[in-house]
Amino acid sequence: MDASARLGPGPVRDAVRRAQQRAREGAVAPEEVPDTAVALLPRTAGGLRPVINATGVLLHTNLGRAPLSAAARQAVQEAAGPTDVELDLETGVRARRGRSALGALRDRVPSAGAAHVVNNGAAALVLAATALAAGREIVISRGEMVEIGDGFRLPDLLVSTGARLREVGTTNRTSTADYADAIGPQTAFVLKVHPSNFRITGFTRAAEVGELSGLGVPVVVDIGSGLLAPHPLLPEEPDADSQLRSGATLVTASGDKLLGGPQCGLLLGEEGLVRTLARHPLARALRVDKLTLAALEATLTGPDTPTAEALAADPAELTRRAARLAAALSDAGADVRAVPSAATVGGGGAPGVTLPSAALSLPEHYAARLRTGPVPVVGRLESGRCLLDLRSVPAGDDERLAAAVRSAAEG
Ligand SMILES: *Cc1c(COP(=O)(O)O)cnc(C)c1O
Repeated sequence: MDASARLGPGPVRDAVRRAQQRAREGAVAPEEVPDTAVALLPRTAGGLRPVINATGVLLHTNLGRAPLSAAARQAVQEAAGPTDVELDLETGVRARRGRSALGALRDRVPSAGAAHVVNNGAAALVLAATALAAGREIVISRGEMVEIGDGFRLPDLLVSTGARLREVGTTNRTSTADYADAIGPQTAFVLKVHPSNFRITGFTRAAEVGELSGLGVPVVVDIGSGLLAPHPLLPEEPDADSQLRSGATLVTASGDKLLGGPQCGLLLGEEGLVRTLARHPLARALRVDKLTLAALEATLTGPDTPTAEALAADPAELTRRAARLAAALSDAGADVRAVPSAATVGGGGAPGVTLPSAALSLPEHYAARLRTGPVPVVGRLESGRCLLDLRSVPAGDDERLAAAVRSAAEG
């Protein structure tokens, strides 16, 4: 298609101007300007560029956390035009927004009476705190006053809603009795926050949700990572269904961490409570768009997500992929070898867990070239080498990865 019709006139003008500038600088010959301009055209009108995540961090916040499955990508594509997000096509009357995505979420979490979806995990907490605790108290352990990342602190977020925090226990130890002593007429709910990006070990104690649920006030559990059911490889990571079965009134989580879906915040729990939250005026400001609902539903009902596949990848197979790639690339003259590596979940999930992996090891100066190449590849630097960890790269991307390394070797 004509570039101007596809991308709009601005990007085309910009590419031509940059090509002409290169000709003036003598970097390209005047007759090469048209081809150079075409090469400089962006792939799409959007500014975000697809990259290959070879960091070995499966959920990399700077790279947009979970990559969507093929099913979710297709669902987004199909929902992009007019869709029946709020219309019942049978009757022709207005219907509950996102009902099929919410139904799919409930199906995956049998112990949830109802589900609601907002813009992200932080929004889920804000909605719960505003609707249930504004002007009242949230009882929280001092060991769970966490900073998520980039200076973002959950206690500040909670206080911004007008709720007061009633801190109990200590950094390393908080008992059920500590909570019981703090509960009174001002208590709106007890909040448990999963320490999703650090671990405290040694002389520690934390109250179980099952014990807290007997204290006579709602128990809200922020599990963070969005596992809906227990994961065999991540036994320490809390999941929504188990927390609700243990007595949590409400569970909040992110959609784009271990669930492997789009950015969103999940609220799962007692039917009446979830309905109250969904009807609160603030819910309108936090609601998700049709693209998110489409991606979430396809994530929930579709095949394993890329995140689930990366978690479950067989280390022996990763080693074979690394050896195969290294052999092919050293034939092309690159100083490359296959090395063992350790990947992590990242993105606020499974802290302290390392996943055995395999990587391509390249000279350090490859890192910048790979990042700025035609297909950007982000690796990680370790002991003066640039490592491309294959656990975060889908096997189907090996050829693109090899092509990127070849192009960096030439550059
Ligand atoms: C990631 C995380 C959040 C924030 O969720 P977002 O989706 O990034 O807004 C809140 N609480 C916990 C425990 C988390 O791990």
